[in-house]
Amino acid sequence: MATGAFENVNRYFDTAAKLLGLTEAESRYLRTPARELKVECNIRMDDGTVGTFVGFRVQHDNARGPYKGGLRYHPTVDLDHTQALASLMTWKTAVVDIPYGGAKGGIAVDPNALSKLELERLTRKFTQGIHEMIGDTVDIPAPDVNTNGQVMAWIMDEYAKFHGFRPGVVTGKPVELFGSEGRSEATGRGVVIAIEEYLATKGKKVSGSTFVIQGFGNVGSHAARILDEKGGKVIAIGDHTKSLHDPNGLDISAALAHVAEHRTLEQFDGKTLPNDELLLVECDVLIPAALGDVIHEGNAKDLRTTLVVEAANGPTTPEADEILHGRDIDVIPDIYANAGGVTVSYFEWAQNIQQFPWSYERVRTELENIMRKAFKTIHEAQQQHSCHMRAAAFAVAIDRVRAASEMRGF
Ligand code: GLU
Repeated sequence: MATGAFENVNRYFDTAAKLLGLTEAESRYLRTPARELKVECNIRMDDGTVGTFVGFRVQHDNARGPYKGGLRYHPTVDLDHTQALASLMTWKTAVVDIPYGGAKGGIAVDPNALSKLELERLTRKFTQGIHEMIGDTVDIPAPDVNTNGQVMAWIMDEYAKFHGFRPGVVTGKPVELFGSEGRSEATGRGVVIAIEEYLATKGKKVSGSTFVIQGFGNVGSHAARILDEKGGKVIAIGDHTKSLHDPNGLDISAALAHVAEHRTLEQFDGKTLPNDELLLVECDVLIPAALGDVIHEGNAKDLRTTLVVEAANGPTTPEADEILHGRDIDVIPDIYANAGGVTVSYFEWAQNIQQFPWSYERVRTELENIMRKAFKTIHEAQQQHSCHMRAAAFAVAIDRVRAASEMRGF
């Protein structure tokens, strides 16, 4: 997301607030983040010098439950982006109706430029900076772009030094360390459930449809695998190093095996295309699963798809969103499309609190239930307000947060 990321989320908020007839005062308190922290993280680098990094945690709203949301390690992390992403988490947890509010955090860093030991030192330092504002009943971080189970394990361990054994302080932990079965694939699986629900309303299925996926990290790669398993034809994929296209369908198993070994698609063989052309490949379903603002005023008119599924957070700018509506291209919005991740985070947290692990089958069944129920609710709201899916999803979410806030009182 470019500068003004929070403003962009609030433009989507305002569209739905209008449908709900919220007063200006209601909109103001619902939009405003509750608490924001910026921390300086100084660490000893491997070469003996001192590295200085800046980390953030923004807690947006907790009317419906503890603050919840991921931690991103990326050079673009700043206060504005963290506010935007924290706000999206408030609406995301509300639209799928899980008992959380919204938060987000991160560190402005390129983690690929750090050694594993430097990354561990930075994560522990950041945890020291934020430990007083997180906790399993307060604010529960999780993975996001460039963070993973190992990073969560370090946070859990560092947090325990201050507060004792509280595995539920973070989710997305490794399965070997209080993580949940099915958490790593959860966002990708949720994306596919959202697609199935949408296609069913058009009398279509995953099998027989074509897919283009931008981003081959945790979200994009699992989405590709599950679509492939269900008979969908994934015709183009790409990450920041390379994009590949085969109209007959790519060998997704081979791509997954390659990335498992080499981390990126850079050395993967196949017909390539320039990265900025990936989104323009003709397909039934286009899935941005990387960073924000990739569908913008400059390329929205050139997309050749019928449906955009926002597996990433904030991939479509409000200007592009308008253009897509004008072209009758539907958009399954991020706050619903990628909510499978935080939903299984919720299951992990519940398992941690009860010290009672669930089977993979149970996780999948409960995830399906939540995603399918939320789709139905959004669909009904869409009919009620005669609006697009994003406005309907925001309306459902905002109304739930507003009701909880009102009932709690000010
Ligand atoms: N980072 C993920 C998201 O944006 C997951 C958040 C979580 O599990 O708390 O939804």
